[in-house]
Amino acid sequence: MTSSPKALPDAPAPPGEGLDQFGRMRAWVDVDSGAIAANARALRRSLAATTALMAVVKADGYGHGAVAVARAALEGGATSLGVATLAEAVELRQAGVEAPVLVLGNLSQVEELRHCLRWRLMPTLSSMREALLCQNLASASGRSMAVQLKLDTGMARLGADWQEGPRLVAAMGDLDAVDLVGIYSHLACADAPPEADDGLTTTQQRRFDAVLSSLAEQGLAGGCRHLANSAATLRCRSLHYDLVRVGLALYGQAPAEHLSGCLELRPALQLRARVTLLREVAAGVGVSYGHRFVTSRPSRIAVVGIGYADGVPRLLSNQLEVLFAGRRLPQVGAITMDQLMLDATDCPELEMGSVVTLLGREANEEISPADWSARCGTIPWEILCGFKHRLPRLPAESPTD
Ligand SMILES: *Cc1c(COP(=O)(O)O)cnc(C)c1O
Repeated sequence: MTSSPKALPDAPAPPGEGLDQFGRMRAWVDVDSGAIAANARALRRSLAATTALMAVVKADGYGHGAVAVARAALEGGATSLGVATLAEAVELRQAGVEAPVLVLGNLSQVEELRHCLRWRLMPTLSSMREALLCQNLASASGRSMAVQLKLDTGMARLGADWQEGPRLVAAMGDLDAVDLVGIYSHLACADAPPEADDGLTTTQQRRFDAVLSSLAEQGLAGGCRHLANSAATLRCRSLHYDLVRVGLALYGQAPAEHLSGCLELRPALQLRARVTLLREVAAGVGVSYGHRFVTSRPSRIAVVGIGYADGVPRLLSNQLEVLFAGRRLPQVGAITMDQLMLDATDCPELEMGSVVTLLGREANEEISPADWSARCGTIPWEILCGFKHRLPRLPAESPTD
């Protein structure tokens, strides 16, 4: 007789599916969608009545979870959404999000454009080639397809040369199944501090304006005009046009130090993890790979269940701090793939299972993505979208204030 596989032990039904069922066991991201909605409202209030707010929710909502962010931003007054890829756009549609969605990345394949038509997504076009593909797809389906034209005014990334703008708008106007609903460009240096600004933003704006006046002179309509990312939105109203595309600021982070006081924004994300083991070690003991930290006294070392495979940059080894009960504790030794160590010698209250905050606020202490990025030579955007699939994103209660 063959033995049947052993039955799994009885367990309570998990509260959710996927990673969320592991909830706050090891390491997680708390996402305060109330803060996202409040940030959208604050941004909305800072705009003219004729300027719309697009919430940029690419890269899984900058690591916060795209669907939850999209819903909160729409509730707070955003009227459209921006994503980078087709799959990101379809994820929103499949979750029932109906708002207009602009795909900011370039879609070059017919199959990709076919999905845009099917899911009512606006592709960004940089050339007539894609416009003709859209025309063929749309006319074959008997529907029209809304698209936006991107112009390169000084970024050398996506977009047609800005000088081509009027000719392209005219040519797209001849395509009966293509509906040009927007024309936009992207700024390369909007976050430069005033003393480092070499006028590139002004140059880009002049080029964009030149295209718009030429369209007006020829009686051509390019639809909704937009140029500003978060930095440009916070920097100057003249950059706003008909719509602003806001990513980082929506999440409560400032795109640059000098722009941090412009609006009251609430960070929406906290990164937390639990202490999984506490060790007493002697003086002179090397901690973690390479012994890059050696204890100078008998020490209490706390192992925390989070590492670089979760998105904590290994470059922060020996420089990171975490918050516990409103105090800062130093991280020591190399950050490893799945865990990192703290020196808890001066913090006897820290216990097995205690929760520490890696990013976020406790009492009067706060650690922001910008603090991390400054220490490891990158930008807050990269920190936020570096959080991996292994970290569940969980809805957090808004602090009552
Ligand atoms: C990502 C992106 C934005 C948003 O940028 P933030 O600096 O995060 O506000 C706006 N426009 C385009 C084209 C983008 O790719």
